[in-house]
Amino acid sequence: MISHLSALAGAVLAVYDEVDDAVRRLRVESGLVCTTGCGACCGTQSVECRVLELLPLALWLWSSGRGESMLEQIEACGPESFCVLYDPAPSETAPGHCTCYPYRPVVCRLFGSGAIVGRHGFVVATCAEMRQRQRDEVACAEALSAAAPSVLVISNVCSRIAGLEPVLGTRRAPLKTALHAALCRIGMGMDLERDAAYDEVL
Ligand code: SF4
Ligand code: SF4
Repeated sequence: MISHLSALAGAVLAVYDEVDDAVRRLRVESGLVCTTGCGACCGTQSVECRVLELLPLALWLWSSGRGESMLEQIEACGPESFCVLYDPAPSETAPGHCTCYPYRPVVCRLFGSGAIVGRHGFVVATCAEMRQRQRDEVACAEALSAAAPSVLVISNVCSRIAGLEPVLGTRRAPLKTALHAALCRIGMGMDLERDAAYDEVL
């Protein structure tokens, strides 16, 4: 079970690598960038994703000994706070940041650069401020998304991930709920593997 989950997590990370490369190229070619240090997108618990999107994160948390404490953190987290993975003020001088940036889900990789498909074509998914301040860059990013929709359109990337494992990859939930489920899956897989190894010794 755990080897199956690890393989799935690896396949998700491979999609993330493709997305990150495309976003890097898009930023260079369009000039579209988020305001430095802006964490407004993380100041909410409305971010949603699928359990499968967070399997790599859950695996990393358990393997670094933080699985149990993250489960407790999620269970203690109130409804109005920041995203459970956001550190709003690590120090007086440093801006807030995502504590699990390499493992963030699809929408966090693509919001501010990638696109959604609207009635009038490709529309960059971003905040009103960026849309106002960077009109030319947004237009350029929309053209680039149209040229590479499999890695720059949020719904297409989500469909690719759902295709890896429909049960864990299809239903959306608030990030903390999806992370709780991913942590429980990995934790259970590790327990079963430990039990099997123990049985072999007996
Ligand atoms: S999309 Fe806008 S609100 Fe979100 S991080 Fe970028 S600049 Fe900030
Ligand atoms: S996962 Fe990271 S990038 Fe996404 S909302 Fe949470 S803190 Fe922000």
